[in-house]
Amino acid sequence: MKQHNPREIALRQFSRAAEIMELEDWIKNILSYPERTVKVHIPVKMDSGEVQVFVGYRCQYNAALGPYKGGIRYSPDVDEDEVVALAQWMTFKCALVDVPFGGAKGGVKVDPKKLSRAELERLTRRFTYEIVPVIGPSIDIPAPDVYTNDEIMSWIMDTYSIIKGYNEPAVVTGKPTYIGGSKGRKEATGRGVAISTREVLKLYGEDIKGKTIAIQGFGNVAVFAGLILQDMGAKIVAVSDSKGGIYSPEGLDIRDVVKHVYGDEEVNGKKKSVISYPGGKQISNEELLLLDVDVLIPSAIENQITEENADKIRARYIVEGANGPTTFEADEILFKRGIVVVPDILANSGGVIVSYLEWVQDRMGYYWEEEEVNEKLEKKLVKAINEVFHTLNLYREKGKEIDWRTAAYILSIERIAKVYRKRGLFP
Ligand code: NAD
Repeated sequence: MKQHNPREIALRQFSRAAEIMELEDWIKNILSYPERTVKVHIPVKMDSGEVQVFVGYRCQYNAALGPYKGGIRYSPDVDEDEVVALAQWMTFKCALVDVPFGGAKGGVKVDPKKLSRAELERLTRRFTYEIVPVIGPSIDIPAPDVYTNDEIMSWIMDTYSIIKGYNEPAVVTGKPTYIGGSKGRKEATGRGVAISTREVLKLYGEDIKGKTIAIQGFGNVAVFAGLILQDMGAKIVAVSDSKGGIYSPEGLDIRDVVKHVYGDEEVNGKKKSVISYPGGKQISNEELLLLDVDVLIPSAIENQITEENADKIRARYIVEGANGPTTFEADEILFKRGIVVVPDILANSGGVIVSYLEWVQDRMGYYWEEEEVNEKLEKKLVKAINEVFHTLNLYREKGKEIDWRTAAYILSIERIAKVYRKRGLFP
């Protein structure tokens, strides 16, 4: 078991909200468990001719609101508890931003950096084959997550389509635009993180212009959040990756860092580490989290802000680009210190909002321009942010001080509970 078990954290977050909102026991019980977790063993012929067997999961947490939806990650840290926690977060994220999806998540325990491109393709196609019985446009729709990208989504779509005997772009989102992807999907999560930052600051009477920001990570979420926040007038003073970070109090030119790290490749292509960028001082990931900035945006992996460093955080706002970067104990410390934590299920929901728009476009066979997609994304997200703030104030008026995460959970749990109350329980 991991030191900070994400399943345990996710359940404690849910239970805290369920208790405060006085959720009926029967609904609380249902929402405490995943509906189904499929575990598969994936045999892959390696380039050497040897056959290696990898373990993969697809957790389908809840489908009260619609087909299951959630990314697939490739990482050596993947295990069942992590996948279930991520699927639970997806369930509440979809409900929170009001898209008609349930929650799911998948993962393969593998270090993709150690695989050749051909091995990665064979692994993806065989994993898809193993989960074909449980996925589909009306059943469960995967998407990219850590160390998976639009190419991997294309292999999933292709494998599924070949097995079914017809082209089915709506089985997966996060595809390239020329095979049924949505314009704006690649940037969507980062765009959502940037919009969340700007809007939450606005709710507290602050302007994004000139604010100093540290971003942990330099992958899909971090890069686009950084670029868009920079365009909004914020100053990105630090970014990092798994090797470490760079810091420049005058502000980094994120476009230039992207050019250095990714060259002419897409953001998901082969890359250098940010630490080789000449324009900043090298710092560790731990140091990045403790920088004296206005906003901290963890956008890499889980469990970065814990009871060990929460009392040393100097940012006034934390906007969770990553899923689960803050532990339950850390949340309590930050809340007592008056630091606003914009939770993952809200802050990084831009990805699933545009995934929903991609699925809609695939199903109707008509594709929108990027402006239209971005407009729809912003409208949905800003609405959710305001609703969470409203919930927060509603509970404050009742004499219950709650944090943004709890308010977001309450809102999304209520949306799912309402459906259960009306649909009832089969049989
Ligand atoms: P990615 O693979 O593109 O990037 C991950 C980044 O994290 C990389 O820069 C990597 O170097 C860095 N990283 C890995 N291990 C690290 C470590 N130990 N310390 C510091 N940095 C480390 O992944 P992504 O798609 O940007 O996802 C990042 C986070 O955002 C994940 O938590 C993911 O679940 C979440 N998320 C992603 C999306 C999406 O649409 N991609 C949507 C919602 C949430």
